[in-house]
Amino acid sequence: MKLIVASANPAKAAEIMELLDLIGHVELIRRPLDVPEPIEDGDTFLDNARIKARALVIATGVAAVADDTGLEVAALEGAPGVHTARYAGPRASAEDNIAKLLGALEGVEDRRARWRTLALIAYPDGHELWAEGVCEGRIGFEPWGSNGFGYDPIFIPDEGDGRTFAEMSSDEKHDLSHRGQAFRILARELELEG
Ligand code: IMP
Repeated sequence: MKLIVASANPAKAAEIMELLDLIGHVELIRRPLDVPEPIEDGDTFLDNARIKARALVIATGVAAVADDTGLEVAALEGAPGVHTARYAGPRASAEDNIAKLLGALEGVEDRRARWRTLALIAYPDGHELWAEGVCEGRIGFEPWGSNGFGYDPIFIPDEGDGRTFAEMSSDEKHDLSHRGQAFRILARELELEG
């Protein structure tokens, strides 16, 4: 079975390929560069994952896997949520987003936060498989580490040893992360389908 990985972010596409590569009968293909990225204007992570996967299925006729991920910060009433990618503006870099979040939490004691990932496979016949992964943790007071991507230097998972995701190897991160969990469940669902 062929499966196109919808993510245009090379670091994220590589993570997803590592996570799904464990399944023998799936041939993972990178997103074709000439297919434009859709506008992610859904209200939920499920809506946005569906928008991304469906756009590729329509363009290619091949099944596609997409995920939508967001960070929910307790002291910010669940923000940035579905706006995590563009928290500091439409063309914000990871550094911009991190700076804005650290600024919003300046002087705030409650650092609790959670990542949520919704991973979804859309098939050309219209059916779908999806799974959710959640990773509870807290936002650090300053960035630490240089691995990973996005907000990794400021997210400290509860089930870890106090290091940020950016201080972990990719295997360590996958074991704990929202995306790791979501894709492990999705991989099992895919295997059950045969
Ligand atoms: P997306 O839905 O995967 O595009 O992610 C939304 C935003 O969350 C982007 O700014 C990503 O950089 C960020 N993000 C997603 N997953 C992670 C992660 O595992 N670590 C850090 N940042 C992430």
